Amino acid sequence: MSRWLDIIENFLASLFSNIKLVEKGLLGLEGSYVELLTILALGLLAVIPVMVPESNRQRWRHVNQIFGIAIFIFVVFTCLGVFGMIRNFYRGLHEIGRENIIALYYCSVPVTILVTSLLFGPAFCGWICPTGALQEFSGFITRKWTVPWKKAGYPFSWVVLTMALFAAAVFLLWMYRLSMTRLFFIEDSSIYWSEVLIILLFILVFRMKQWDARLRRLRYLSFLIIVFGAIMSLRITSPVHFGFAKVYDPASFLSTVMVVLAAFTIPMVWCRYLCPWRCVIAWAAKHSVRSIHFDSSKCITCGKCGEVCDLDAVKNGIIDTNECHMCYKCVDTCPAKCFSIKDNWKK
Ligand code: SF4
Ligand code: SF4
Ligand code: SF4
Repeated sequence: MSRWLDIIENFLASLFSNIKLVEKGLLGLEGSYVELLTILALGLLAVIPVMVPESNRQRWRHVNQIFGIAIFIFVVFTCLGVFGMIRNFYRGLHEIGRENIIALYYCSVPVTILVTSLLFGPAFCGWICPTGALQEFSGFITRKWTVPWKKAGYPFSWVVLTMALFAAAVFLLWMYRLSMTRLFFIEDSSIYWSEVLIILLFILVFRMKQWDARLRRLRYLSFLIIVFGAIMSLRITSPVHFGFAKVYDPASFLSTVMVVLAAFTIPMVWCRYLCPWRCVIAWAAKHSVRSIHFDSSKCITCGKCGEVCDLDAVKNGIIDTNECHMCYKCVDTCPAKCFSIKDNWKK
């Protein structure tokens, strides 16, 4: 078993050493490391939701998410996941006026996401983000159990408890193996987020209804910790980061697996409770040009919008913009066509 794990780790290490397809995809300003290709690619992915036909919107969304994963893995240079984006942004802002090209390099991905969110709402979360897509795709596998669980109002469920126990067992065994060969550094701190994720799973298995809304505030704590780390120049790598970097990172790999396993149990669990970057997107979404409008006079209170929303961000047509990922699933599902998408340039 140990030999096979070694073989897998060695394979991943060699795979990630050459993962970027476009080495220095920044040809516009030669040698400046400004990610022009990334800006273009992310800008294009952000415009797709505006252009696709309503009839096949969800299919287009999943295609967009797959392209989003590919762009982050093979093209983007600076983004190091949802933690790294905050760190890079801080670092870039810090360089303005001193090393403007470096500032542009570090700010390009976060600024592109912020600007597109200010224009098109939080569609980055629902249409592009690889961490979000990974959770959504994982959730498809266990929908059979999680959908009835949600419909019943999240009571205690043995199936859900078993999934949480499985995630915890994988985490503990993996940590045991890693600790035999590796000393953990601050850089590996995403493991602590994984520990919190496991604790959250057990709270939510037993008390989802009571604690869901309160625990979502943890995102702010997560954000403050990452900002503090950025100010102190601490490099904390995030889940999924290993897929974007050119170096295999066992701690990031483990936290990615934990995000996936946790999303089997609670849909979009990382986004709901721990993603620090969501604080930034939610702020942009509140001020965005594009938003979803609800016409309460048409509503027949069937509850279908709430049933399809993985984030529990809508109830009988009322959308919580702090939580909404702008996936348009509720819009596409509503039988009474209560929702419309509006662009308000006067904001
Ligand atoms: S909340 Fe965070 S992890 Fe989730 S989709 Fe948005 S940016 Fe990605
Ligand atoms: S799906 Fe439409 S009709 Fe049904 S509760 Fe939601 S907004 Fe109202
Ligand atoms: S409220 Fe609607 S658009 Fe927002 S995340 Fe939920 S289903 Fe998607």
